[in-house]
Amino acid sequence: MKDLIIIGAGPAGLTAAIYGIRSGLDLMILEKLSPGGQVMNTYEVENYPGFVEPVSGWELMSRMENQTRRLGAEIASGEVDSVRRDAKGSVFVVTLSDKSEVHAKTVIAAAGASYRRLEVPGEEDLIGHGVSFCATCDGAFYKDRVCAVIGGGDTALEEAHFLTRFARKVYLIHRRDQFRGVKILQERISASERIEPVIDTVVESINGSMKVESIALKNVKTGKQSTLAVDGVFIFVGFDANTGFLPAEILDKNREVITDIKMRTSIPGLFAAGDLRSGSRRQIVMAAAEGATAALEAYDYILGLT
Ligand code: NAP
Repeated sequence: MKDLIIIGAGPAGLTAAIYGIRSGLDLMILEKLSPGGQVMNTYEVENYPGFVEPVSGWELMSRMENQTRRLGAEIASGEVDSVRRDAKGSVFVVTLSDKSEVHAKTVIAAAGASYRRLEVPGEEDLIGHGVSFCATCDGAFYKDRVCAVIGGGDTALEEAHFLTRFARKVYLIHRRDQFRGVKILQERISASERIEPVIDTVVESINGSMKVESIALKNVKTGKQSTLAVDGVFIFVGFDANTGFLPAEILDKNREVITDIKMRTSIPGLFAAGDLRSGSRRQIVMAAAEGATAALEAYDYILGLT
């Protein structure tokens, strides 16, 4: 039996492992894809302290992963299906999708969040054929092409700006007349000749037979419908917490995990850190700090068991 199982190897999970190992805990990280989390898809990070120049998301997360491995952490591949207490209520049973089980005294859920869908016709069918959730991964395919970015938050603004390295034109389509993203990003959008904001507008469908050809739009104020010819559609309309494997009693109405300031859920020994927490600001530095807090609290909890 492990002292601690950490679910997710993004900034929260990896930092939890760094702190857990240094506290002497016998721990294991379970990750369903590869380590790094959402940050791997970010072209540049310029608000993580310690890097004078922007650092690529890939490099930042590779460094965190290597640091974690150097300290001796085991990062295992596995998708978690459920986390529950055993019959006696003293041990956590983590069940994986292949039905295997791992047991631990404590668990830190740090599985992050997944890209939210627009849920309009054509979106699902055209993923990989012009519909993308990652400009860093797919932007280079759109050299001298026309793209649409959907969303008005930090991610949409950042990624729209990134796409101008390749695309000759980027329509930034937002459902309101005010962007949610921070001022510095809004200023970059205004300064770019290649970005054309399309405000008060929603996407009604994404059209194309083999690949994206156009999007159908509707102005929410006037009701006017229109069609825009585009080669690619990049969707950045927020995230949904990856909490399907957790007990419903620790989730809020948005299915995000409720914790206190010490990252404790209402189930003793079960902690949560990072983007799946209720009210998370989804910042790398915050996820890392929450991972550290959760690991130190897990250590204290285990001390209290003896
Ligand atoms: P977000 O802040 O939740 O913004 C989502 C955007 O998508 C909003 O503008 C929202 O419109 C729009 N939207 C949501 N559902 C929609 C729908 N069904 N149809 C059309 N538009 C829809 O998400 P995010 O931009 O991905 O950012 C997530 C978090 O990560 C934020 O806390 C952000 O600060 C953080 N982040 C930080 C950085 C950075 O620090 N460099 C970079 C990226 C992200 P409304 O505005 O009308 O709600």
